[in-house]
Amino acid sequence: MNEKVLSRRGLLKKGAAAAAAGAGALVAQGGTAGAQSRAAAPSRRFRGWVSRGAGPGRTTLQDLTLRSIGGRQVVVRTEATNLCYSNVGAVLGIQPNLGAPPNTGQPPAAPPAPPAGVPRLQDMALIQGHGGVGVVEAVGPEVRRVQVGDRVCVSGTPQCGSCYQCLRGRADLCQFLGRQGPGDLVPIADMRDGTPVYANSHIGGLAELMVTFEEWVVPVFTKADAVDLGMVCSCVSVAGLGATTSQVLASIGPGATVAVVGCGPLGLSAVQGARIAGASTIIAIDPIRVRRELAMKVGATHLLDPNVEGEQLVERVRVLTSGPNDRLWAGGRNPGGSRPGGAGADFVVEAAGAATVPPKLEAGPDPTGVLPLRQAYEMTAPGGHIVTTSLTRGTLSLPAVMFTIGGRTHHSGQAGGANPMRDIPRFVELLDKGQYNAKALATMVVPIERMREAYEEVAYRTTVTAIMTG
Ligand SMILES: [Zn+2]
Ligand SMILES: [Zn+2]
Repeated sequence: MNEKVLSRRGLLKKGAAAAAAGAGALVAQGGTAGAQSRAAAPSRRFRGWVSRGAGPGRTTLQDLTLRSIGGRQVVVRTEATNLCYSNVGAVLGIQPNLGAPPNTGQPPAAPPAPPAGVPRLQDMALIQGHGGVGVVEAVGPEVRRVQVGDRVCVSGTPQCGSCYQCLRGRADLCQFLGRQGPGDLVPIADMRDGTPVYANSHIGGLAELMVTFEEWVVPVFTKADAVDLGMVCSCVSVAGLGATTSQVLASIGPGATVAVVGCGPLGLSAVQGARIAGASTIIAIDPIRVRRELAMKVGATHLLDPNVEGEQLVERVRVLTSGPNDRLWAGGRNPGGSRPGGAGADFVVEAAGAATVPPKLEAGPDPTGVLPLRQAYEMTAPGGHIVTTSLTRGTLSLPAVMFTIGGRTHHSGQAGGANPMRDIPRFVELLDKGQYNAKALATMVVPIERMREAYEEVAYRTTVTAIMTG
């Protein structure tokens, strides 16, 4: 193959191909000046939660044997990994059973069939989990970003630095995100019966070792506790802090009024980010009482229960954000007259999303997440900004004139727009300096053996989130 026309997929596979070709090929790839070449012992054994097939028993703890690495691959000994709600279905084998999107009346379409010769993801032996923190054990010869012994965040959002999105300043949309399909994954280990094992999203955080690529790792120079570090580096914390402090999508001005819709670990990180950014009013909205109380503990100034407020929720936020002065010639925020009453929040973070299973604590008003999304848009002030972060099911309808000329600016992105290599070290700094409270969010910490039990608590919302230690 001509090196100059290697596809990205080819580049990803290059390391594994070299590994398959043996140590000679590994050495041959290490020709660049200063290249490192430290491979983990090929017989290294480790445990990982491997998913395959369908149903509740699809994820089991397996003894695995690490394969040789090469190219830009990095082996990380897992210290901690967050159990992200978005993986509940894949890990526990639960299909969302809350009905079809309301506007179509049709069940969700089946995913498109993979190209010939490419297996379906659910048939592959896959280590779940799309993030984690740990210590680099081995690097392929082409790796420059990290060294053996470095502490790293394995980021759910990769950052290559050279794709078009990275170059235009939107590393949250790094095009390597699109190279995580079944045909892009490479085997990183073997089960006892010889079955090849792959890492979800090139990460596979639910294991004692993560085998990833250089683009997914961010070195973090800190002595922080592993659980705290795992929390602040998780996809959800990065998204919440990213939306509020990265200033890639939009900025919170000092004294701004902020509303956070949904107080899971992402929303609770957004509450903290809003406080760090200097917001004067932070309204936290969630149906679950313990999550609202936690929001107050980490920086919210007002709490609202969407089940209590009902259709008045938007109006309540408008009133709370109107300020003390209602006078038109004196800078009053309330537009009054023919406009809806109240000001609206200068900055809204929408972090509700769809439920995979009905929660065992207080359920929200809409399991698809569409209603809180619409309310989040409507509670944004004219001239204000809304950042959306959720995984919502269905179709959103908005008053068209509010959308066209209402002056609300919507920002959409991965990870709250965070730029991983720039922002994750800053977020770790916020942890180290006591500005970000990770302990409050990590309400459950379990060893690897208790991962399933912890994921059930995450699924049923009986814990804010959970951290699995390596
Ligand atoms: Zn996630
Ligand atoms: Zn990129």
